[in-house]
Amino acid sequence: MERDATWVGTSWKMNKGPSAAAEAADRLARLSFPATIQPFVIPPFTSLKDVCDNLSGSRVIVGAQNMHWEDSGAWTGEISPVMISECGAELVEIGHSERRTHFGETDWIVNLKVHSALHHGLRPLVCIGDTAKEYSHDVTLETLARQLKIALHGVSEQNIPRVLIAYEPVWAIGAGGRPADVPFIDKAHNHLRSVLINLAGLEAGSAVRLLYGGSVTQDNAASYSRLQNVNGVFVGRAAWNVDHFHALAEGV
Ligand code: PEP
Repeated sequence: MERDATWVGTSWKMNKGPSAAAEAADRLARLSFPATIQPFVIPPFTSLKDVCDNLSGSRVIVGAQNMHWEDSGAWTGEISPVMISECGAELVEIGHSERRTHFGETDWIVNLKVHSALHHGLRPLVCIGDTAKEYSHDVTLETLARQLKIALHGVSEQNIPRVLIAYEPVWAIGAGGRPADVPFIDKAHNHLRSVLINLAGLEAGSAVRLLYGGSVTQDNAASYSRLQNVNGVFVGRAAWNVDHFHALAEGV
């Protein structure tokens, strides 16, 4: 079912500390989601264990917002995939544009993290996206192909379907962003699908779930999710409130 489901998820970013997150997870656990939807939430690290505990046994998958590629060691301030797994999370977000922009995360680092996540049984949710400048210079498709190929470099055909990809145009994310228009997303996602099939073959390339993110709201979510190569939406602001998240998931 997971393969055919429409994935609907949100990262809480640097919001909801342990008590607010535990309360939100408690509420989420009591809501029911349509069988066609695969919901997921990505709390900050300090809330991860509580959210995993409160959602265990529910249909909501929990993820972490980042990880280091090593299992342990002298990496002050970092969190390893082993620690994330021990909390009970199944998913890990890798390469969000805020991490690329503010913390110097490159495509090559993303690739290291993807391998490590898979090695530890975590599903990587790899975020890729073009900047406003790349968009205005009409190099979006080339940019996305480059990011995708480097992120997946060396990943076996067998593991490729475990990776989720979120296309998040940098110009569409956050308060200063604007939603992308639907024909453009259709074109970008069709291109991503063909890159994936070229890389991994028809079966594995078609199995990868491709999500769209960037100023998704209750009003526009369904216009994206009904596209053939959009298998879900990854939402920020419009889904931080649990009831809004639920309503958005019911509407896609
Ligand atoms: C994001 O930051 O990944 C995101 C999708 O944010 P928003 O929905 O708020 O634009």
